[in-house]
Amino acid sequence: MANILDGIKLSKQIKQEIKEEVTEYVQKGHRPPHLSALLVGENGASVTYVDNKIKDCHAVGFRSSLVKLPETVTEEELLQEIKKLNEDDSLDGFIVQLPLPRHIDQEKIIMAIKPSKDVDGFHPENFGKMALEMEGFLPATPFGIMIMLERNHIPTQGKDVVVIGRSRIVGRPMSILMSRKGEPGDATVTLTHSRTKDLEEYTKKADIVITALGVPHFLKASMIKEGAVVVDVGITRVEDPTRERGFYLAGDVDYPEVFEKASWITPVPGGVGPMTRAMLLKNTMLAYTRKFL
Ligand code: NAD
Repeated sequence: MANILDGIKLSKQIKQEIKEEVTEYVQKGHRPPHLSALLVGENGASVTYVDNKIKDCHAVGFRSSLVKLPETVTEEELLQEIKKLNEDDSLDGFIVQLPLPRHIDQEKIIMAIKPSKDVDGFHPENFGKMALEMEGFLPATPFGIMIMLERNHIPTQGKDVVVIGRSRIVGRPMSILMSRKGEPGDATVTLTHSRTKDLEEYTKKADIVITALGVPHFLKASMIKEGAVVVDVGITRVEDPTRERGFYLAGDVDYPEVFEKASWITPVPGGVGPMTRAMLLKNTMLAYTRKFL
């Protein structure tokens, strides 16, 4: 039976730490940290994500602001808005909620964000700094997993880590972070993906398996070794008419059976998700405090 890597409890603790830090700065006469979100269109999931981010800001004493633009906004207009946010000194960081409408070039938009305000850590400058072990912003989900491993004292040095999924925001940065020097880190990492042959060959030998593929219940107990640490990033809505909401949230791990074999495991929901949310606050706090250095 595995120990639970409880993302709800840990994210609450981290938010409490941030709140106390904010209070200290405000008591010294500084303005509170300020995060802004740029939302294009009315996509239901995006609206919910942004609402949650704003709620999180208020919970820790940050100021927050929201720039809402219509679905029909042109790329040029969006770039103008980003320019304004880049130049606004009352703002420590901002995010552009993805995905953007098809007529807008997402890469061009990310490139336009000032790296020192890119609290999502998506700008290539921050990605490069991450790979080079320089100070920047780490993308929220991998950052949250690193903190989760660190705070639960899970050893990573010299361990074999398998990451499943090579997305820019989760799998690939995760593989880089685990291979960096330091603790957590110093691991021997294999980055696997949809073209990997005999995935099980790798997962069966791994001390730590991190799944970020978005295929419900993909990782079975037979695919891991006894006592492995399993981190499940996946969140997929699976239709289920027996539930009030009509769906449930599934991770990439076949939880009941993997739970019996692993030494540590993240539940879904309640594992990586809440940590991701907390890390946006942590990055904003970093953007804020760096100004005092
Ligand atoms: P993505 O869809 O961009 O990429 C999926 C990756 O998985 C690809 O690299 C692909 O090669 C790989 N893959 C797909 N099928 C595979 C298979 N059968 N075997 C091996 N590899 C396979 O993914 P993403 O944006 O990284 O998201 C992955 C999952 O994580 C999704 O369920 C997403 O909702 C979830 N997610 C959760 C959080 C969180 O905070 N918990 C954050 C981001 C993403």
